[in-house]
Amino acid sequence: MKIHEYQGKAVLAAFGVPVPKGKVAYTEKEAVEIAKELGPPVVVKAQIHAGGRGKGGGVKLARTTEEAESLAKAMLGMTLKTHQTGPEGRVVRRLLIEDGVELAGAREMYLAIVVDRASGGAVFMASSQGGMDIEEVAAKDPSAILKEAIAPGLGFQAFQARKLAFGLGLPPAVVPKAVTFMQALYRAFEGTDASLLEINPFLLMKDGTLLALDAKLNFDDNALYRHPEFKELRDLDEEDPLEVDASKHGLNYIKLEGGNVGCMVNGAGLAMATMDIIKLAGGAPANFLDVGGGANADQIRNAFRILLADREVKAVLINIFGGILLCDVLAEGVIAAVRDLGVKVPVVIRMKGNNEEKGKAMLRESGLNFTTAEDMTDAARKVVSAAGAAR
Ligand code: GDP
Ligand code: MN
Repeated sequence: MKIHEYQGKAVLAAFGVPVPKGKVAYTEKEAVEIAKELGPPVVVKAQIHAGGRGKGGGVKLARTTEEAESLAKAMLGMTLKTHQTGPEGRVVRRLLIEDGVELAGAREMYLAIVVDRASGGAVFMASSQGGMDIEEVAAKDPSAILKEAIAPGLGFQAFQARKLAFGLGLPPAVVPKAVTFMQALYRAFEGTDASLLEINPFLLMKDGTLLALDAKLNFDDNALYRHPEFKELRDLDEEDPLEVDASKHGLNYIKLEGGNVGCMVNGAGLAMATMDIIKLAGGAPANFLDVGGGANADQIRNAFRILLADREVKAVLINIFGGILLCDVLAEGVIAAVRDLGVKVPVVIRMKGNNEEKGKAMLRESGLNFTTAEDMTDAARKVVSAAGAAR
């Protein structure tokens, strides 16, 4: 789960991480009030779930309240394009109005904590090349990124923080403060079950103060049940409408680019295998949709509706293993959905397992035009050819 910068900063501040003073504004009027309250200069920052806003024109300094007003007016409602938004960009609906910080004489550095597959745990990263694209730094000069692997049982150790702080070339007088800063970041990362925490730029000001000038915080979806308080941080405007719809019905749906076969599968493993076999048959899946092991007829109906709402879907493959989800329950849901929605694309169904015969009989007797398949290979060939023929 992604959140906005202003929300991430509030979470970090609660863990003792120093951040600039600021508030969120939804309207021009609110922006002006906050700017007055803080006193210029202020920075006006577009809040979207993507980085690279600075280069895209989504972060601007206002020297006066009037300037803040006209910037807020220009930014609210604008479509902001950055290298992370894709060509379609994102509509700006919220702004962060923040105390403007003097960058002259300051050092912009980079800090992040990520989950690293190679070391099987969290890694603390630091670089003196902050304020710019870290991907670019990583590509051009990987040695400019310092890394400390964190042992899960021990947590981030003070000596590791000191190593990073000295590695950044911080003046000795600042090192203890930097250690405290990094430890607070780690406490925030661990305490929120984050999957990513990035501070870019991490600022050392002329007077020796350290500050998180930007903050990116992502949470691990699988741990969200431990943080009911984060629910209200979700911004549905930033998410794919079909994915939001699916999550409301307890469905694991992810839209994929470039494919035209809609897949409805139960179980993530079977979903992956189904995507593979569609590829093997020469096609491409339009989505990943796992209805889960114990889906009911209503969920099946919703899953089907969501698949069909994707205009790229030219044929649907339903591949179900009847375990806890019985094949007849699936058939009931699919038949109800087709009667409800009137489906204009070919539907291929392969089902195996509990109540298979009953489910197949229901499909046959429904009088609806389903193609049935005996095994996965057969199903994949049939659906790929149907999707191809529809093109
Ligand atoms: P991002 O481009 O989406 O990563 O957004 P950032 O929050 O990192 O802001 C982009 C850039 O704007 C930063 O790297 C800074 O150079 C600049 N910036 C952000 N806040 C301030 C500020 O308070 N004062 C000044 N002078 N520049 C700022
Ligand atoms: Mn940034």
